[in-house]
Amino acid sequence: MSRIGFGFDTHKLETGAALFLGGINIPSEKGSIGHSDADVLIHAICDALLGAANLGDIGTHFPDTDQQYKGIDSKILLKKVAALLNEKGYHIVNIDTTICLERPKLAPHIPQIQQKLSEVLGIPAYDISVKAKTSEKLGFIGREEGISAYAVTLIE
Ligand code: MG
Repeated sequence: MSRIGFGFDTHKLETGAALFLGGINIPSEKGSIGHSDADVLIHAICDALLGAANLGDIGTHFPDTDQQYKGIDSKILLKKVAALLNEKGYHIVNIDTTICLERPKLAPHIPQIQQKLSEVLGIPAYDISVKAKTSEKLGFIGREEGISAYAVTLIE
């Protein structure tokens, strides 16, 4: 049986912080702030996968009140989520994502992000779509106060 899942995440941006997207450290003046490494793309993917399997959300599995997740590499969380789905007998058909960020341009980094996610999830990079867009200078994305990511996935 096929099941669809949707995930969303937002983090605050701050000058001098690191910007991790899909496990890749992106050179940027501003980076994202959070309890973990604040990788919005991985967090949105985790929620999409958990949602598809109706297994709750990233907060249920990795609460931000738990000190063991402080500063954690989000790739570890994604690996755990993928393992949970495998235990339930699901495999990932494909993942489609959009990152909303005013700066920097992400296009040059997308192949590397797809490759990294492919390694973590053990699925072909071809099955992981990563898109990026600005917010036309509107709202908190446009003011460079934050970054968001959306993900949908199909599992079987
Ligand atoms: Mg998050």
